[in-house]
Amino acid sequence: MGAGGLGSPVLYYLAAAGVGSLGIADRDTVSLTNLNRQILHNPGDLGRAKTESARDKLAAFRPDLELRLHPGSLDDGNAPGIVAGYDLVLAAVDSRESRRVVNRACYARGVPWIDGGVDGFEGLVSVYRPPSGPCYECLTRGIPDDPGHVPRLFGALAGTVGLLQVQEALKLLLGIGRPLAGRVLFYDSREPRFDVVEVPADPSCPVCANARSPGINHGDHGEHG
Ligand SMILES: [Zn+2]
Repeated sequence: MGAGGLGSPVLYYLAAAGVGSLGIADRDTVSLTNLNRQILHNPGDLGRAKTESARDKLAAFRPDLELRLHPGSLDDGNAPGIVAGYDLVLAAVDSRESRRVVNRACYARGVPWIDGGVDGFEGLVSVYRPPSGPCYECLTRGIPDDPGHVPRLFGALAGTVGLLQVQEALKLLLGIGRPLAGRVLFYDSREPRFDVVEVPADPSCPVCANARSPGINHGDHGEHG
């Protein structure tokens, strides 16, 4: 989900690792200010749909790769159907609302997803594995997007965080190592420093609490605890 700053290293390295089929979702077009980090795209792509630009680069890099494009916006109406076609989702998006759409869709369809986020000199990565919590909603419930916030990004940071996402993806696909689920990895490139923080599931989470207890869905009767 996203073929920009995080999506560029994510897609290139998943392709390089030998993943057989990749879907690319993005609604944006390429602009000049993207190019300090969005290495799928070059000056000849300005104004093109990022999905199409990304497809051309990846098809040249891995001619045998199966690519599916999902241009346009993701919402609660179309996202569950899109994620259901994949083993794994990597979110390379830049708003909480987009992550919430991915989170709801992945918990509805039982598809694991890997979040990556970058802002300024800092980044984070986490893994969500339905039906287990915590999910993204557990961590961010009630925190709105700040519409006035304009992200300014240390460009190379997108590579660091995107490649951490790819490593988590390959661990899940191959069944190796300890996935970064129930934990969030924070990276501060100024120090530099990595921190890993454990996060609990919210027992009243509207997204994952029901996923964990499919037979005990009390619908809209409210929370009691
Ligand atoms: Zn949750």
